[in-house]
Amino acid sequence: MSERDAAEQSSDTVFGAIVRGEIPADVVYEDEHCIAFRDLAPQAPTHVLVIPRIGLSGLQEAEAADPELLGRLMQAAKRVADLEGLGDGWRLIVNVGEAAGQSVAHLHLHVLGGRRLAWPPG
Ligand code: AMP
Repeated sequence: MSERDAAEQSSDTVFGAIVRGEIPADVVYEDEHCIAFRDLAPQAPTHVLVIPRIGLSGLQEAEAADPELLGRLMQAAKRVADLEGLGDGWRLIVNVGEAAGQSVAHLHLHVLGGRRLAWPPG
């Protein structure tokens, strides 16, 4: 996807602004389809968000989304885990909807690791 296409399809959210380069982010990985950057309020030693360049609002839109893109996001999360050295164990979280804690209407996968992670989550 060209930078222009990505900008046109990005969301009107803080993550869309990161895709467009309007606000800075601590990027740890990026490719044609997605960007991964450190969460501003980390909940673990490693806390990285993986987002698509295009502005899907969340997994609420999963049926309409490109399944290949959804797969690529998972693969990017694994890539981040490898880059961050999370081989001992890590967690992938997607908050879907306000009641689950979703605060930004642009699909994002949380990659958490670097400490022992309790289960069940809160
Ligand atoms: P959620 O609550 O699942 O929607 O996750 C949104 C996450 O985005 C939260 O963990 C925030 O700390 C994080 N966040 C919000 N704005 C930024 C930003 N500008 N850069 C990095 N992380 C952010």
